[in-house]
Amino acid sequence: MSELRGLVKAYALKNAVKHGGKAKPESVLAMILGDHPHLRPHARQILELAREVAAEVNSMSQEEQKEALLREFPELAEEEKKREERRALQPLPKAEEGKVVLRFAPNPDFYIHLGNARPAILCDEYAKAYKGRMILRFEDTDPRTKTPIKEAYEAIREDLRWLGVVWHEEYVQSMRLEAYYSVAREMLRRGCAYIDLCKEEGKRMLAQGSYCPTRDKEPEWQLEHFDKMVEGHYREGEALLRIKTDPRHPNPSMRDWAAMRIIDTEKHPHPIVGSKYFVWPLYNFSVSVDDALMGVTHVIRGREHEVNTEKQLYVYKCMGWRPPVFIHTGRLKLEGFILSKSKIRELLSRRGSEFLGPDDPRFGTIASLRRRGILPETIRELILNVGIRENDATISWVNLAAANRALLDKRADRIMATLEPREVVYEGNCVDAEIPYHPDFPARKRRYKLCGGDRIFLNEGDLRLGEFRLMGAANVKVEGNKVVLVSRELEYALRKKLPVIQWVPAEGAVNVRVYVPQGLELRRLEGVAEMALREYGQDARLQLVRFGFVRVERAGESYELIFTHE
Ligand code: GLU
Repeated sequence: MSELRGLVKAYALKNAVKHGGKAKPESVLAMILGDHPHLRPHARQILELAREVAAEVNSMSQEEQKEALLREFPELAEEEKKREERRALQPLPKAEEGKVVLRFAPNPDFYIHLGNARPAILCDEYAKAYKGRMILRFEDTDPRTKTPIKEAYEAIREDLRWLGVVWHEEYVQSMRLEAYYSVAREMLRRGCAYIDLCKEEGKRMLAQGSYCPTRDKEPEWQLEHFDKMVEGHYREGEALLRIKTDPRHPNPSMRDWAAMRIIDTEKHPHPIVGSKYFVWPLYNFSVSVDDALMGVTHVIRGREHEVNTEKQLYVYKCMGWRPPVFIHTGRLKLEGFILSKSKIRELLSRRGSEFLGPDDPRFGTIASLRRRGILPETIRELILNVGIRENDATISWVNLAAANRALLDKRADRIMATLEPREVVYEGNCVDAEIPYHPDFPARKRRYKLCGGDRIFLNEGDLRLGEFRLMGAANVKVEGNKVVLVSRELEYALRKKLPVIQWVPAEGAVNVRVYVPQGLELRRLEGVAEMALREYGQDARLQLVRFGFVRVERAGESYELIFTHE
């Protein structure tokens, strides 16, 4: 079986096993190119092969397909099995197939980070598992303190798409203010809410277990004053809509919590609706109205929202709505990385800040992890492993890197480069070097001809090894500024246990700069890579032999790479 055909068959079997016994040639092609981008130029040939192979595979029974996958491609089958095991999330309480509605509700005041991605991925996973609906809702009703930023909406969408999160509906809260006004009016009518005109004093009174006297006014008065709020009769801080709970509630924050307030949008215009509205809902109010009106059946969010859930239940009760199932998860941190929006913002705003933006590879935002070269599958895998547990979890960089390495190892091509280049001259007969890009696919290789007098770059430190094998080429000995051919045979190298080292033909060598994130530092290493690097464009993920994995940040005359991990 030719190598390419073998590869196509492996993917076709995998595709068939996953999709009820039917492999689709187009999906097979997409999977192959996704995992092996360097094969793109051969797309047409692969598609043809995929058609042929799919026909063959689809004529087998599902059992036969599984057996063949297991027999011929045990690693792929193993990978698939592990993935399925991981997918075995604990069941969602009171969930019915086809009826589950979940939502992810980010604040578009910044980029999302690994911790925010947790509810997004869990909801996505459950929505898929239960064939339910997933909603993306931008919670942008605080133009004053959590000021939404325009670019964040699209940045969040992009991160979610990259993470493989699928949503069926999308809402922007700032465009739904009328819906909140209408529920507010209904709650005033029903006597479950009131307009507090006592300003600061109202807050003080509640802290002492009493309340603003307007609480006792009849609904007509309340509605009239709510309309006045909406029409702009009051300034910031002069009027508040409060939900009646219990002015003596043991938890002072629960006492008649504030549901709507006035924001001077002339001074603080909203990026989407400008200065159109003065009355803005607070989180607890808009979130309960939306979850109810959008038919959300399960809310998955951080444990820090537990008290909020209790607050929100007052809205459900007053309106006679059935509350969703609330699931509170612990926090997720990434050891050694900054996740906090405010901290990242502060670092970015420092004068002369060296940080490259919210997606700087030193941060823990999703965009940062992507830029660093982490795969979306890795993030999903780690988050699903933690699941909906209530306790906080910290993912260590070591674990994240290990999970990522396991996936990258199979797909990243290997390129020779040196970051401490020292030029030497090769002495000896011509040798033809044939070096596979990836050990799993030995037929795919680049060729170099190395002849006496040719200049090559080696790692400065490797010269001290004295004798070694130039990868894919020949065994050589160091003599001053030269490396001299000893023999060509691999057996010789194996027998003498010679180290196999990477080398870079000086002709066509590409200048590279590698950024290595380390805590808050970003080290820059300069060096050269073999010509083959030019086959890869921005975003390609590669392994630099004896150095580690990198992502191509910029491809051009010279290359910029970001170090992912070893
Ligand atoms: N916008 C809220 C947040 O990002 C949503 C919390 C929730 O899921 O209710 O914290």
